[in-house]
Amino acid sequence: MIHITEPKNCCGCNACVQACPKHCIRMQEDSEGFLYPFVDRESCIDCGLCERVCPVINQNEPKKPVVTLAAVNSDESVRLASSSGGIFTLLAERTIDNGGVVFGAAFDENWDVKHICIDSKSELPKLRGSKYVQSIIGNCYKEAKTYLSAGKEVLFSGTPCQIAGLKRFLRKDYHNLKTMDVVCHGTPSPLVWRKYLDEVSSMYNITQITDIQFRDKTEGWKNFSLSIKYKDKEGAEKTFRETLNENVFMRCFLSNLCLRPSCYACPARNGKSGSDITLADLWGAENICPGLDDDKGVSLVLLRNKEFSLPGFVKKEIEYSKAVMYNHSIESDFTLPNKKDRFFRLSHRVGIHKATVKCTTKSRFEVLTEKIIWNIKNRILK
Ligand SMILES: Cc1cc2nc3c(=O)[nH]c(=O)nc-3n(C[C@H](O)[C@H](O)[C@H](O)COP(=O)(O)OP(=O)(O)OC[C@H]3O[C@@H](n4cnc5c(N)ncnc54)[C@H](O)[C@@H]3O)c2cc1C
Ligand code: SF4
Ligand code: SF4
Ligand code: SF4
Repeated sequence: MIHITEPKNCCGCNACVQACPKHCIRMQEDSEGFLYPFVDRESCIDCGLCERVCPVINQNEPKKPVVTLAAVNSDESVRLASSSGGIFTLLAERTIDNGGVVFGAAFDENWDVKHICIDSKSELPKLRGSKYVQSIIGNCYKEAKTYLSAGKEVLFSGTPCQIAGLKRFLRKDYHNLKTMDVVCHGTPSPLVWRKYLDEVSSMYNITQITDIQFRDKTEGWKNFSLSIKYKDKEGAEKTFRETLNENVFMRCFLSNLCLRPSCYACPARNGKSGSDITLADLWGAENICPGLDDDKGVSLVLLRNKEFSLPGFVKKEIEYSKAVMYNHSIESDFTLPNKKDRFFRLSHRVGIHKATVKCTTKSRFEVLTEKIIWNIKNRILK
């Protein structure tokens, strides 16, 4: 039976919950806002299925891509609404054209992030764009299995651990299953996200949020912004927009203060998920393929299954090693920051804004130490 002794040993994929024949596992939120499984021992029959489907207990070997591409969707409006080059939309459209269904992450009515299933192109905007919050899988693996068994084409998209969880849950290959994951920095806590939105809502007198974009490209793809469209107390429609360096939630995310513990020892990145294709931002595009870079978004496409046929898009083959050089998250985990516990303690007391500013602003001592280390390194290099 599944028993989580350390939080880093569970990525929250929900495979165990969906696989349990006695329905005796339930997910419970911890003080950091992440879900973990708890077993009702009375009902458990010790069948061991929960452990067999767990992608953290059963990890694959890393797998290099067979082809590495720089790519853009030629529909500029789709590319601007997408996080990088808009390639996810092309994969999803093809599945829908084939009469299939697409699973992916969407906001719900409270702006929490959940996995949903769609079967029409008009619903694609719900899945388009990265949401930097852990998405709740619910019963999506079970639902996908039902479609697969009925012979429908299924495109399942998500983080590498969600794809690894799906594959373990299914326990057999389906010719009609296509899987797409993203290169994953890690996923922030849903609780931190909820609290952040509450704080912004009271700071700006927000009565109703009408849209949220984590990758607003108004200031460019590289200098992206978090934007929130809302109505205030007077009913006026307004937009709040801050670039990645200005915005508190993005600073908290990119400083790795609010990631799920499993993200610092990811069980599925670097091709371990078993996905057919991995999408990412092609950071360094201005040097790797300057001809494609117009600061509106270029995707990095890592094709991991040579049987997977690609839809039509503008592409250029590039060197995998160059893509890795500019994009740490493809192969490596981020180090657990020593201020993470302090951040969560502080956030419960003073809120997300104050806790983030306190934990991301360097003290004079830290700046001085960094300078000294930098000087020593420089001298050694010389
Ligand atoms: C949490 C997270 C971290 C990421 N970290 C990096 C990184 O470090 N480096 C990098 O190069 N790229 C990263 N990406 C990937 C990148 O942001 C784009 O998602 C990817 O390049 C696809 O972009 P697109 O333009 O083709 O399509 P888009 O339309 O932008 O992609 C939408 C796809 O993302 C999925 N998705 C969105 N939010 C979530 C979520 N919360 N959980 C699971 N799936 C989600 C949707 O299901 C859909 O498949 C990350 C994405 C996410 C969601
Ligand atoms: S051992 Fe079997 S019955 Fe017990 S929790 Fe795991 S899956 Fe459920
Ligand atoms: S990683 Fe997934 S399958 Fe494993 S314990 Fe956590 S929720 Fe269950
Ligand atoms: S970093 Fe790994 S464990 Fe964390 S959400 Fe991404 S795929 Fe899952």
